[in-house]
Amino acid sequence: MECDKCGRDAVMNAAYSGAHLCETHFCRSIEKRVRRRIREDSLIPRDATPEDPERWVIGLSGGKDSVVLTQILDETFGNDPRIEMLALTIHEGIEGYRDKSVDACVELSESLDIRHELVTYEDEIGVKMDDVAESDPMNMAPCAYCGVFRRDLLERYADEFGASKLLTGHNLDDEAQTAMMNFLEGDVKQVAKHFDASLGSFDDRNEQSEFIPRAKPLRDIPEKEVALYAHLRDLPAHITECPHASEAYRGEIQKLLWKLEENHPGTRHSILAGYEELSKLAADQYRGAGEVTLNECEECGSKTSGTRCRKCKLVDAIHAV
Ligand code: SF4
Ligand SMILES: [Zn+2]
Ligand SMILES: [Zn+2]
Repeated sequence: MECDKCGRDAVMNAAYSGAHLCETHFCRSIEKRVRRRIREDSLIPRDATPEDPERWVIGLSGGKDSVVLTQILDETFGNDPRIEMLALTIHEGIEGYRDKSVDACVELSESLDIRHELVTYEDEIGVKMDDVAESDPMNMAPCAYCGVFRRDLLERYADEFGASKLLTGHNLDDEAQTAMMNFLEGDVKQVAKHFDASLGSFDDRNEQSEFIPRAKPLRDIPEKEVALYAHLRDLPAHITECPHASEAYRGEIQKLLWKLEENHPGTRHSILAGYEELSKLAADQYRGAGEVTLNECEECGSKTSGTRCRKCKLVDAIHAV
């Protein structure tokens, strides 16, 4: 198959768009879609200046998604004086898995000369995910603990580093899965919150939230294309699965979406486009309704609706074993 643009050998044939692209044109097309998403989401505020720059904290895990995101952001905005970037890596304490991906993060940050910060569960909350998975005091999946800890540390450190926004590498498959899960759970308030927290354009979001706003500039790009881009550009991405990965429901939805996509190319794009539109309507409808006032956790200062945050409660349970 030949590239639609130049006639060289195609490295990608996208059933959802009918495009055949060679290496050069495929990479350009990825970069173009990421830049367009950044523009459409109004990620750079009009009032950002070299004197008062926008600060982006990038969640860099060392997996292909966050590595590709960091590389493209650096190439696009690395010399833009209105934007400062730093990469933040969270080490969960998973032997043989996270150590290798931290190496990838260090290699990438050094090659791009971008500031890199590493925060570990062990230093910050006194636990390692390997031990938590073993003791499991709450009888939950490891990811249920890990997700709470990661969110807490990302939020805390993004705040400490003065982030205007927290950018993560979620791709089209990730976001279409989350959309389907939220639909199937029937939780429309959750769908509404999703819009303001991390989905919508900054022109349409309610920015009064007490949390650092999040953005996902790769959410138009299918997972396979992110992987192909990382491979073609020889980026230092670490590709293995966490030994504690346990999101069984997400796995089911993932398989379902692969099947649908195979039979009806474009399904993921249409799910996400429809979901974004609906979540905007839901956000407009629900904004402010039944909102709980947030307090500071008496133990760690994180935001919580009660007196102690979920992370501190989980840590207590772990230490009580
Ligand atoms: S797969 Fe689960 S346990 Fe492993 S790093 Fe991700 S959230 Fe944590
Ligand atoms: Zn070409
Ligand atoms: Zn707390």
